[in-house]
Amino acid sequence: MIALDAVARERENDGLLVSDIEEAYCSKEMNHVYAPCSFCRGEVVPKYIRHTYHWNGQLFIFEDVPAGVCVQCGEAYFTVETVKTMERIVLSKTRPERTIRVWAP
Ligand SMILES: [Zn+2]
Repeated sequence: MIALDAVARERENDGLLVSDIEEAYCSKEMNHVYAPCSFCRGEVVPKYIRHTYHWNGQLFIFEDVPAGVCVQCGEAYFTVETVKTMERIVLSKTRPERTIRVWAP
C-alpha cells in the first residue's frame, strides 16, 4: 500500500516533483524477481530510477521509483503495482478543483 501523501513540490519548468513513495513498499519491490529483458534477454535487476510521467499536459517526475533495469540495454520495467501506485499519486495530484496547465497538441 502506497502512501497517497507523497511529497510533491513545484519546480520552475520541469514539472511536479514527486518523491517519498512509501519505503516499506519500495523495499518489498526491491526483492521482486523480474523476467529477462524482452528486448535482449539480458538480466533485469531491481534499481531505483527516476521516471517521468505525462498526465493531462502536466509532467510528473518521480524520484526513487523501484524498477527492474536490464543490465545490457538499460530498458526499465515496472511491476503492475508500481504503475498503479504512480497513477494513483498522479490522480491524487490532479483533482478537478486544482488548476493545472494543459497544452494543446
Ligand atoms: Zn535488455
